[in-house]
Amino acid sequence: MSQITNEVKNQIKKRRTFAIISHPDAGKTTLTEKFLLYGGAINQAGSVKGKATAKHAVSDWMEIEKERGISVTSSVLQFNYDGYCINILDTPGHQDFSEDTYRTLMAADSAVMVIDASKGVEAQTRKLFKVCTMRHIPIFTFINKMDREAMDTFELLDDIENELGIATCPINWPIGSGKEFRGVYDRASKKVEIFSDTKKGTTQGEVKKVDINDPEISWLITDDQRVQLEEEIELQDGAGAEFDQELVSKGELSPVFFGSALTNFGVETFLQHFLQMTTSPLPRTSDRGPIDPMEEGDFSAFVFKIQANMNKAHRDRIAFMRICSGEFEAGMDVYHMQGGKKVRLSQPQQMMASERKMISKAYGGDIIGVFDPGIFSIGDTLTTAQDKFTYEGIPTFAPEHFARVRQVDTMKRKQFIKGINQIAQEGAIQIFQEYNTGMEEIIVGVVGVLQFDVLKYRLENEYNVEIRLENLPYEYIRWIENEEIDLDKLTGTSDMKKVKDLKGRPLLLFVNEWSIRMTVDRNEGLKLTEFGRS
Ligand code: GDP
Repeated sequence: MSQITNEVKNQIKKRRTFAIISHPDAGKTTLTEKFLLYGGAINQAGSVKGKATAKHAVSDWMEIEKERGISVTSSVLQFNYDGYCINILDTPGHQDFSEDTYRTLMAADSAVMVIDASKGVEAQTRKLFKVCTMRHIPIFTFINKMDREAMDTFELLDDIENELGIATCPINWPIGSGKEFRGVYDRASKKVEIFSDTKKGTTQGEVKKVDINDPEISWLITDDQRVQLEEEIELQDGAGAEFDQELVSKGELSPVFFGSALTNFGVETFLQHFLQMTTSPLPRTSDRGPIDPMEEGDFSAFVFKIQANMNKAHRDRIAFMRICSGEFEAGMDVYHMQGGKKVRLSQPQQMMASERKMISKAYGGDIIGVFDPGIFSIGDTLTTAQDKFTYEGIPTFAPEHFARVRQVDTMKRKQFIKGINQIAQEGAIQIFQEYNTGMEEIIVGVVGVLQFDVLKYRLENEYNVEIRLENLPYEYIRWIENEEIDLDKLTGTSDMKKVKDLKGRPLLLFVNEWSIRMTVDRNEGLKLTEFGRS
């Protein structure tokens, strides 16, 4: 291990790398944009990530990918605020929800969960939350759209606790909602924060902090609202969990904030508290023990996403990696552990607001995309350390859609196998085979259904192989943790299917959760898991 310099240490210390998770339409894009507005990375809200790219039909998506030769879903946005260097990881939602969305969370040090105040916890939030808890990272809650009619505040908190099983601690409390939304009450300072007009959220606006009894705000906050606030706060103080930074750091307590991303109300307050409560880059597990970015001077990183170039003329790819320690310099030589040789990291790029730009330097906590001539796989480690090490792999996430794949022209078996394997290696799909049937049929599993279209399109365009997909009814997959179990003797429900992955590991496919429970009941000692080892 080489000694870290103070310069590098200071750079890493000021980094905050987090993902925003939410159900589509809760306001993730709007909130991200407002962060950039406060960070001065954009001048006016409404200029980042046109909605055209976020909500497009499948066919458009293909066209856009082709034209740009790169994913339209940006991977990371970096900006500075108040001395911090902030990396926001994008978690693709909508139609492009895929395994990548989950993997992105592996690169984050914390997560911000955006919840629509009128809807509470929704399906996609639940899925993403599960992955965050697996890593025990801090999770912060921003309850958005308070300018609309909201659910009762206590109900919202109960919903989070019951649905997600995490304790909550409101840092502030909303005063009214919808047209009556007046601001938030900061529980620590006991001040009311009121907001000035933000020209429909396009400018930053001002925040005023005043005493609740200050006559200056009597025109804004009615007596009824004040009384209600006092009652609610008293109730919350008596019954709710107290703020505890240690529990927050372990991901066991979620600080909750209220606001409206659209009008900017509560956004900057949230950002300020969040930056203090969240963490700078943390040690990561390797086969040499934890690698602490505050001590390890050498560069190290792991690949968490591979983006294929959809442009037929260039079959190159971009590998996105999370830097875990040290300093990165463009064109530097690093050791690729899984490849067993030195590679030069060229054409490094990073996202800044809406642009992709070449970079010359980056530090632990940052995310960079580098040119990949087809040598990297998800989870690979790169380092300049003499005393080499490998970071813990990235789990394989359970696909939720399955289809049988058949090639139309059976003469093209070789291309078909090559193509499907390469696409699986990039992590866009998972492939399985029937167990012990002697059939060579391939079953494909995906996290988001769009990946089926991507597979079909890419096999046709890049490998010249036409395929037919036959949807299968399975929705759940489980890896068998205790592999010594005799699969032949395993008895499940009649609609259960036994398959194996590329490494020959056994898995079970189920149509519903009931079948999973029945199968576990019927086979003593059987341990199933929804996260596979890569
Ligand atoms: P995403 O799908 O989570 O990225 O959500 P978007 O940021 O695209 O927001 C979805 C819709 O909700 C858009 O029409 C936004 O203008 C709107 N929206 C976002 N935040 C707010 C808010 O605080 N209040 C209101 N009323 N609408 C909002």
